[in-house]
Amino acid sequence: MRPPSVDALSKSLSDIDLPAPLLVEAARAAIRKGDPDSARTEAMEIRRSLLGPAINATGVLLHTNLGRAPIEYSQFGRASNLEFNLATGGRGSRNSHAADLISRLTGAESALIVNNCSAAVILVLAALARDRAVTVSRGELVEIGGGFRVPDVMAESGTRLVEVGTTNRTRLADYEAAGRFHDIALSLKVHPSNYKIKGFTEETSVRELSQLGPPVVVDIGSGFVDEACQWLKDGRPVWLRDEPAVKQTLESGASLVTFSCDKLFGGPQAGVIAGQRDLIEQCAAHPLMRAFRPGSLILGALQQVALAYLNRDGDSIPFWRMAQTPISELKRRAEAISAGKTISTMSMTGGGSLPGEEIPSVGIELEGDLSACLRQADIPVIARVREQTTIIDLRTVHPEDDELVANAINSCF
Ligand SMILES: *Cc1c(COP(=O)(O)O)cnc(C)c1O
Repeated sequence: MRPPSVDALSKSLSDIDLPAPLLVEAARAAIRKGDPDSARTEAMEIRRSLLGPAINATGVLLHTNLGRAPIEYSQFGRASNLEFNLATGGRGSRNSHAADLISRLTGAESALIVNNCSAAVILVLAALARDRAVTVSRGELVEIGGGFRVPDVMAESGTRLVEVGTTNRTRLADYEAAGRFHDIALSLKVHPSNYKIKGFTEETSVRELSQLGPPVVVDIGSGFVDEACQWLKDGRPVWLRDEPAVKQTLESGASLVTFSCDKLFGGPQAGVIAGQRDLIEQCAAHPLMRAFRPGSLILGALQQVALAYLNRDGDSIPFWRMAQTPISELKRRAEAISAGKTISTMSMTGGGSLPGEEIPSVGIELEGDLSACLRQADIPVIARVREQTTIIDLRTVHPEDDELVANAINSCF
């Protein structure tokens, strides 16, 4: 029998939501393999390789591979006042909307938004400390993940790393000693977001360090805005008891704080430099800023989150809504899905933040490893597997997706 023509085969796939050239590609690949029947699978694989939604049932709230903080944002196909001053009709600044709101929120004199926190740190170092020395405690020379290693970042920014203290203990005297031998442009403190040192430890506080002279820059990473947590009805949750917040870090004497917007801030991927106005202006004027600036889509989504904080409306920020859902509500949802066994489980923040902190949660336990089957759903469900049991943690699932989760489970039996 002659193989079907590429044309006929690709037309038979026209119900799949892909442009014709990609269906042709799938048909060709199937014919080349001598297996025309596999064309549909080929096309579905192309379809599933595109960026699309997923249901995070892992219980990891800020799952880096699933896009960290979930965001709700849409916009119309219109122009915007991105860099247009509506009062004067002249040129405006893309740093005057979301960034101003973030300044208000954190009590900073000024703020600057870049593409992520790594860019924020690089820009600060390049703009304020090129060809000069920066002190960092040996206990804070961390790797954040994805190859972001503090010593390497410093080298790339053209600054000279001066290590002070030891891995477990760094005192003010260590920083003072470094200042006697080097031209210190900044003291950098890096929050070791993704691990903890326990036992015989000592670190120098921001307040002590800020008395020394050089501006103190604190990379806190997670973007926890304010210890007061006024956007939450019940105030600061226990799992955040040890996490440094932007506002209080600035109050204790930091000249600048850098953080991610897609971790505990609960926004889109971006990074913020917040603090002293003159230093922010130097960062904004640096040539790298042009390469690091975000576009209007990100700034719009970020502004929406900043407004929600100012409205004290944590429930409209998906990350906070999920993190704060009461156990009773999760239990009710698990029982309504009525599959498997309802169990108590533990969620965590993830995204390289708050190591060891867990948030009580409720899940559905299913026998066997169903993870591959659950990923086959139209909107893939990503579950956790432990010793041949599959766990669907409902804390990280949008309640409107419960029905899709139920359908996905049913289709696996
Ligand atoms: C996460 C993190 C970063 C990197 O942030 P990105 O926004 O992912 O670039 C840098 N520093 C600290 C302390 C972090 O926790």
